[in-house]
Amino acid sequence: MERSSEFQVVVIGSGPAGCTAALYLSRANLVPLVLEGLQPGGQLTITTDVENYPGFPEGILGPKLMDLMRQQAERFGAIFRMEQVESVNFRTHPLEITTDRRTYICQAVIIAAGASAMQLGLPSEKNLQGFGVSYCATCDGFFFKEKEIVVVGGGDSAMEEATFLTKFAKKVTVVHRREELRASKIMQDRALGNPKIQFVFDSLVEEVIGTKEGGVTALMIRNLKTKHLSEMKAQGLFVAIGHTPNTKPYAGQLQLDDKGYILLPHSHSTVTNIQGVFASGDVVDHIYRQAVTAAGTGCEAALDCERWLTHERITERWD
Ligand code: NAP
Repeated sequence: MERSSEFQVVVIGSGPAGCTAALYLSRANLVPLVLEGLQPGGQLTITTDVENYPGFPEGILGPKLMDLMRQQAERFGAIFRMEQVESVNFRTHPLEITTDRRTYICQAVIIAAGASAMQLGLPSEKNLQGFGVSYCATCDGFFFKEKEIVVVGGGDSAMEEATFLTKFAKKVTVVHRREELRASKIMQDRALGNPKIQFVFDSLVEEVIGTKEGGVTALMIRNLKTKHLSEMKAQGLFVAIGHTPNTKPYAGQLQLDDKGYILLPHSHSTVTNIQGVFASGDVVDHIYRQAVTAAGTGCEAALDCERWLTHERITERWD
């Protein structure tokens, strides 16, 4: 595999955190490489209108916002490559990052790889992804006009998705594994008060029935209290059970919490437990998870990284 020492700093991820880090690094003349990953632009590229990013009073489409962020970083010299990180070696310095194409050897890394929607883990769910099974109501809701839809989950995401889907669907049923919702009161009240939304509590989806040709036709639902299994007619399944951070390549090297989020040992700093490795955005944040907060921490990571390279870096010169 080719080994490259072209770049002093590598940013992993190209969502709001990665693009903002790249913008600040490139304006500091550090010419960062951005490894875009499998979903260039991150999660905002699978949403429609973004109405809460400051500076766009009329809202802006998610893919358009990410395109603008990328262009802004490129204007100052950031290089974007569509490569996926497979493994890293942060045990020695310089740091090594191996992608599907080559191994990069660099002085500093900013991890901004984001998070992915969690799946139920059913073979039938996997088989029918994109054929009636979805993880993003804003992306796919339009395809379910006058259909019967099930949303799985009891958190804010599930309430938001269910409420949004009532714009299109004939009926939305929220299936939640407990009797109590986890969602905030305001989101619960909105969903509970919507006449198009029904709730099935203490239950899990056990199987998705359908074919790639005909789409989803029904779901098998298990009541966890009575153990009773029943069939529910539905043409769509939206899974909204949370997100998991994209941190697999770093396990065993960076300190992660029990859910896989990167731990930052120092308050007011984006440095990880390894010198020269910084983290920002959804790989760190399981609380706010907003585009604007991710962009903010991407900026912090770039400033921390630049200061570290200037004052503390391990080798004196980078040729
Ligand atoms: P979450 O709060 O972690 O809720 C996940 C839900 O899915 C929980 O109800 C959980 O059940 C259920 N669940 C988890 N794994 C499951 C499985 N394998 N099978 C069935 N059900 C499962 O995640 P979230 O709703 O995505 O929210 C994450 C964060 O983003 C929260 O802080 C939330 O406030 C925030 N958020 C805010 C907004 C907003 O304000 N507009 C919108 C979306 C998200 P249990 O309750 O039994 O654990």
